[in-house]
Amino acid sequence: MSGRTADIAIIGGGLSGGLTALALSRLRSDVSFRLVEEGPRLGGNHRWSWFASDLAPAGEMLMAGFRKSVWDDGYHVRFPQYRRHLHTAYRSLASTDFAARLERELPEGSIVTNREVTQLDGEGATLSDGTRITARAVIDCRGFDPTDKLHGGWQVFMGRHLRTPEPHGVARPIIMDAHVEQLGGYRFVYTLPLGAQDLFIEDTYYQDTPELDRSALSARIDAYQARMGWQGEPVAFETGVLPVITGGDFRGWQREQAVPGVTVAGARGGFVHPLTSYTLPIAVATALAIAADADLPGEQLSAKIEARARRHWADMGYYRFLGKMLFGAARPEERYKVFQRFYRLREPLIERFYSGKSTMADKARVLVGKPPVPIGRAISALASSSPPLSDPDRKSPQ
Ligand SMILES: Cc1cc2nc3c(=O)[nH]c(=O)nc-3n(C[C@H](O)[C@H](O)[C@H](O)COP(=O)(O)OP(=O)(O)OC[C@H]3O[C@@H](n4cnc5c(N)ncnc54)[C@H](O)[C@@H]3O)c2cc1C
Repeated sequence: MSGRTADIAIIGGGLSGGLTALALSRLRSDVSFRLVEEGPRLGGNHRWSWFASDLAPAGEMLMAGFRKSVWDDGYHVRFPQYRRHLHTAYRSLASTDFAARLERELPEGSIVTNREVTQLDGEGATLSDGTRITARAVIDCRGFDPTDKLHGGWQVFMGRHLRTPEPHGVARPIIMDAHVEQLGGYRFVYTLPLGAQDLFIEDTYYQDTPELDRSALSARIDAYQARMGWQGEPVAFETGVLPVITGGDFRGWQREQAVPGVTVAGARGGFVHPLTSYTLPIAVATALAIAADADLPGEQLSAKIEARARRHWADMGYYRFLGKMLFGAARPEERYKVFQRFYRLREPLIERFYSGKSTMADKARVLVGKPPVPIGRAISALASSSPPLSDPDRKSPQ
């Protein structure tokens, strides 16, 4: 280690930083690291969900050990003209359980919380209290910052954890209930039965702006609860504003935030599903890739992960194209038709779509047949450019 604080410094103890630390500690226990988070606890206030089919066996192993909600009997979707039970198993992890596991499992002294990193470079990071952490490799996992270089729309949501006085009787997740008033964009309500008397209800919008009106969303969750006959006490809530990337200058974005010799990972590095915002499987795969190259000098690791991010960007082109159709071609109140039609397709195709592994045949299948949006509007949407994913009022979307 030659006088350095640790072999690797990971900046940002959210999803990708935490998983990278876990992968290092499980697979490369000889490599020392520091995981620095500005918040009081790792993970923030989130809930991460994923489909069991999203993870390869190595990823499944990395996620073993976390206390999580598991639904092996699949999930439901509901639309105005269509509803379906799909059989793919579904998983969800609360950030409190994420933090608890990491606190128990990561080596003593490796987690540093309540410290903002105020400066970082290829040799280390300086913390808000002036402490300097030096390392052979520095990994920047500080999350996505709004940017003019990327274009698209936003996924905005508020989730409420409700404790019901009696068992609510909901057996499986309802991951899209779009049989609700379509306001401001594609709107659906997402419900997870976390326990016999616990429900997580999230009101979600694919909209053109990152505005989140807390009181309006809260009132709409009240109305949805009343419609479903669910009573009880709210015990927690979360909000999110996530980018839905439909295009942009990826290399320019990489250059904009590059610090020489620093590896950029997580949402900040572009490791997201641009359309669905299901990020956990991609964060798992990236964490394993970093652990496999944990011996590389910082410069080399940085170049390797940067190239991986460019490949990921290229692989995600089809989903950005679909996002562009969703935002540009469909009127806000008709965007639900795109998903309603999609959910009539075969389950393996839907699984591959969510895991970002659609085949050429899948891609063609999604597009053939009667289009859910007028073809003229679709063509002009493709020809026009989407608004930038920047927001002058907000530094970070999360
Ligand atoms: C409410 C919500 C629900 C979501 N649900 C899902 C889901 O169901 N499935 C899914 O796959 N994805 C989901 N996402 C998306 C997913 O959470 C994000 O894409 C993911 O967290 C990105 O991981 P990350 O590690 O890049 O960033 P984050 O998880 O945001 O982590 C970044 C961390 O860096 C820290 N940080 C920032 N700056 C500094 C600094 N200067 N010094 C020290 N620390 C710093 C932050 O405090 C934060 O903890 C959800 C997001 C939100 C907000």
